[in-house]
Amino acid sequence: MERVDCVVVGAGVVGLAAARRLARAGREVVILEAADAIGTGTSSRNSEVIHAGIYYPTGSVRARLCVAGRDALYAYCAAHGVEHKRIGKLIVATDEAQLARLAAIKAQAAANGVDDLYEISAAEAMALEPNLRCVGALMSPSTGIIDSHGLMLALQGDAEEAGAMLALLSPLDRAHRTADGFELEVGGTEPMRIACATLVNAAGLGAWTVARNLDGFPADRIPPRVLAKGNYYALAQGRSPFSRLVYPVPVEGGLGVHLTIDLGGQARFGPDVEWLAPEAYDRIDYAVDPRRADGFYGEVRRYWPGLPDDALVPAYSGVRPKLSGPGQPQADFLIQGPETHGVPGLVNLFGIESPGLTSCLVIADEVAARLA
Ligand SMILES: Cc1cc2nc3c(=O)[nH]c(=O)nc-3n(C[C@H](O)[C@H](O)[C@H](O)COP(=O)(O)OP(=O)(O)OC[C@H]3O[C@@H](n4cnc5c(N)ncnc54)[C@H](O)[C@@H]3O)c2cc1C
Repeated sequence: MERVDCVVVGAGVVGLAAARRLARAGREVVILEAADAIGTGTSSRNSEVIHAGIYYPTGSVRARLCVAGRDALYAYCAAHGVEHKRIGKLIVATDEAQLARLAAIKAQAAANGVDDLYEISAAEAMALEPNLRCVGALMSPSTGIIDSHGLMLALQGDAEEAGAMLALLSPLDRAHRTADGFELEVGGTEPMRIACATLVNAAGLGAWTVARNLDGFPADRIPPRVLAKGNYYALAQGRSPFSRLVYPVPVEGGLGVHLTIDLGGQARFGPDVEWLAPEAYDRIDYAVDPRRADGFYGEVRRYWPGLPDDALVPAYSGVRPKLSGPGQPQADFLIQGPETHGVPGLVNLFGIESPGLTSCLVIADEVAARLA
């Protein structure tokens, strides 16, 4: 049986960042990925926004890792030639009642250490973005956009340069605890067994299954799984009517139907929040229902009244790995090391929804610290 120091399960942005971090610290790392390529999960089904760290409860893991992660990510992109743009974001109130929400968001951002968010008048915002309609706005200059696939390729390159090995089409089926670590049963076309001293569960939507299939892992340490799909729609024709990201005030479970712009200058709207039924959790359908666009027109026209009829076409969807459901307070990222579950050499990453892309480099630092 092959024996390695460390196995990372999942080659999404978080698994790749963790593998890079551990390999650069001199550890021998194998990355197991069930799919036939890196980044085919949530890491390629998101808004590709580098978040500033505005909304999360102060002191939460998400708040801390977003602010630190954003700075680390901008520096990484600059050093590694990963395409990105510090494009800025407007958070807009579209009626008087929402102005109080803007004030609360501004205070939250300041408490989180986001020190560059500032208020601008509706007139100034509408002068910057002539298609916009609002009654008040906040400007976040440190929000940006990124080529998430370019980022993952850079992380993979770094990890491999430091000696890490990526095994595609290699799903982790079961794991057993041994006296000095774990014995892994890897399925796929060429099933194999690997022994390792440390195991990082960065399987995203599959993290719960990986934990359940680890013999001897305490079941009461596996959090509830809640999945919420986010659907995006693009404009059938034309370039983005805005040159900055435009976000309404947040809604339950998500940030509201916002407008993001990709690095090619195309606009997309979303994601909405579609809570999935538990029976759909293991058979995720990423198709975007064209009829759901009906609900988008009203939402978008609050800030872009000029959205023409029939302009929106289905684009893509992603699924948020959540730890809290409708009506519950938003759960935090859950990074579980031996100190919480009692299994030496194991780190589980649960509920790494947004801002997981922004935070990937510092999540990797947290993983390394838990294994130190
Ligand atoms: C709709 C939406 C919008 C978002 N927008 C943003 C945003 O704008 N900015 C931001 O910062 N964050 C955003 N996020 C969050 C961000 O996309 C995620 O936090 C991040 O991509 C998670 O990466 P990951 O590596 O944990 O998971 P994934 O990318 O899902 O990777 C997990 C990998 O594990 C593999 N895997 C699963 N089970 C196994 C197994 N048993 N064996 C081997 N491999 C396995 C999967 O195939 C997959 O490749 C968004 C998320 C969603 C859903």
